[in-house]
Amino acid sequence: MASFVQFLQHSGVYAAQSFMIVPRGGFNLVCLRDSKDVRLSYDRDRLQIDDVRLEHVERVAQEYIDARFRTQRSQEREDQSLRLRTALYATARPEGPARALKISAKGVGIPELRAMRGSTGIKLEIAILPRKDFTIAFKFLKHLDQSGKVINATKWTPDDVPWFLTKLNWTFGAQANIFFTAVDATWITVQKALGAKISRDVFRSDIVPFKRRDADLTCFLVGDYDAMDNEAAGEYLPDEQVCVVVDQGNPPVFDYGEAFIGVMAHEVGHFLHHKRNMPGSGHHDRSGVLLSSGMESLSLDKQLVSNITAW
Ligand SMILES: [Zn+2]
Repeated sequence: MASFVQFLQHSGVYAAQSFMIVPRGGFNLVCLRDSKDVRLSYDRDRLQIDDVRLEHVERVAQEYIDARFRTQRSQEREDQSLRLRTALYATARPEGPARALKISAKGVGIPELRAMRGSTGIKLEIAILPRKDFTIAFKFLKHLDQSGKVINATKWTPDDVPWFLTKLNWTFGAQANIFFTAVDATWITVQKALGAKISRDVFRSDIVPFKRRDADLTCFLVGDYDAMDNEAAGEYLPDEQVCVVVDQGNPPVFDYGEAFIGVMAHEVGHFLHHKRNMPGSGHHDRSGVLLSSGMESLSLDKQLVSNITAW
């Protein structure tokens, strides 16, 4: 039985939902397994589908990575590039049972791709998504200790912002064609002793006023914060377009290593949900998906993609 699978994790291929995204004017990649005698059928006015053969792997991988990381150099970029090239080389072998498909968007909407063997087959919905761009500012809190000395409230610093952006832009860029640009990454100092855990009232009265008014979203790093019980170790304030993320993130609900960036993505998810004027906060009960009330990850799904953007 033929099947569609992703080449890279969180790359906008939602195989369980027979759904994938392709950036408008760009392309995405999907692997078709067990492709012997399979014929592809699709709307040729809106999609162009090419097999990635051995001689194309380096160029296609480079274009794919460039579109998602832009000019940014990072270890994450090198790692993803290596993973993708390795997977494409394995698939592009002549006479191999799988095909690497490069799916380019020429139109708009959500055309279907069918892979047919005889009279039976599988289908994939292909959402052609316009690109969305938002600006984000990061503010790192300093305040006074009991003796009046200025101290850092958070272990994170402006030097961490390139990593935040790499992770956010892969989470939302590769999965939903939504990208963020940092317009500010600076320390702020509140000349008061605020204590180790920042209360919600103090956050609104003494910290939120430091937001960047010309940024679409300001994210505050304050160390510890008195998040509400139903929230993932942070908070998004829709009336202010700011969010706060605690240093430790939320280890019980995310995989190891993703507890902090997962909460940041969760709060950014609230922002995107709110930007689309969707009802409610955006929390749901689909376990393992970002914004879930249960276990979460950096994975989006078809429903979440449609809640935060439009095709
Ligand atoms: Zn939430």
